[in-house]
Amino acid sequence: MPSVIFRKGLDLNEAVAPALAEDYDSAIVNEIISHGFQRTRGRLTVRLAKEFGFCYGVDRAVDYAYQTRMRFPKRTVYLTGEIIHNPHVNDKLRTAGIRFLSDPHEPREPLGPEVVIIIPAFGVTVDELAKYDQFGCTLIDTTCGSVLNVWKNVERYAKDGFTALIHGKVHHEETQATASQSLNYPNGRFLVVLDRDQAQLVCDYARSGGNRHKFLEKFKHTASKGFDPDQHLERIGLANQTTMLMSESLEIGEMCRQAMIDRYGEAELDFHYRAFDTICSATQDRQDAVQNLVGSERLDLMIVVGGYNSSNTRNLARICTAKLPTYHIADAESLASLAEIHHRPVSGPLSNLSQSRDKQEVTVKEWLPLTGEVTIGLTAGASTPNNIIGQVVLRLEQLTRN
Ligand code: SF4
Repeated sequence: MPSVIFRKGLDLNEAVAPALAEDYDSAIVNEIISHGFQRTRGRLTVRLAKEFGFCYGVDRAVDYAYQTRMRFPKRTVYLTGEIIHNPHVNDKLRTAGIRFLSDPHEPREPLGPEVVIIIPAFGVTVDELAKYDQFGCTLIDTTCGSVLNVWKNVERYAKDGFTALIHGKVHHEETQATASQSLNYPNGRFLVVLDRDQAQLVCDYARSGGNRHKFLEKFKHTASKGFDPDQHLERIGLANQTTMLMSESLEIGEMCRQAMIDRYGEAELDFHYRAFDTICSATQDRQDAVQNLVGSERLDLMIVVGGYNSSNTRNLARICTAKLPTYHIADAESLASLAEIHHRPVSGPLSNLSQSRDKQEVTVKEWLPLTGEVTIGLTAGASTPNNIIGQVVLRLEQLTRN
């Protein structure tokens, strides 16, 4: 077995605290928080959601990455991929000398006991972990406790003969890792649904069958090997990627529950359907806080800051878009001028990690009133550090200083 350290129980290491503060803290954000989550400069008022930015899982993962570099200064340290979905944080780790196995031009060294591998907050698949195990690498496992909790339940579904129906994005690292947990048992299987529409197809089939060929074609990339809807939708256990939209996950859960009642009757429900709450509390808190912000404050527009491949950031933007003009921006550079903003629309392709930033962005003109008072709501995804949020506030103030 590889040595696994830092899995739990370590508090913030005092040795890395100054480096973390220097890289990620923001005096402006601290000031905004201490003044009731708002700040007015000139004609601009910024109102910040009461929960925003780095979550406990991300805080811990980044902390462990810094500790790892410090603890093994002479050894090769690899991250399996992005530690979290924020390019600024990942680039800082590259600068600190941590290498990424996922980087296309990374010159790979042979894996072995001398190599240190950091597992990101989303976790990795069972097969990937087994590979590092085989090579005897030293593992620093930063998988978030909330993700481990989902895995535990998905594994139990497999053990008890339930198909794990996972509400998530099939290419997201966390969903891939979660789905793989169901294969720890010989008869384990999974099916990933992206949204309510896909869940409806599954519920319809579970309720009354349908066109098997069409169903398999639709879900050919999101179901486990050998998936048979005629057998494997008889017992469903619901799980979700921890960063999905809470309201949608709950709705999907209710749809599945009702489909199983319709097919097998209320008395048989426990045999055919299981569910548990797997949206993590940090995701839920950020979604609740932004709902409160857009629901109770008079805002001209919302800005949501975070990596373009960050699932939880995109879901925050989805919530806001339903209420008022909303711009999901990567950082202060997206605020090109008073006349132009670059942002990633909520309705764009879901997650295309291979696309460069400029290919994911669109430019919107006349996004900000040229004169008069303006109130902007602000929030940030769980992988966005405060220094990036602070830079956005400064840039907004610079643009409205006229
Ligand atoms: S979003 Fe939730 S599950 Fe993901 S790292 Fe943060 S706390 Fe953990």
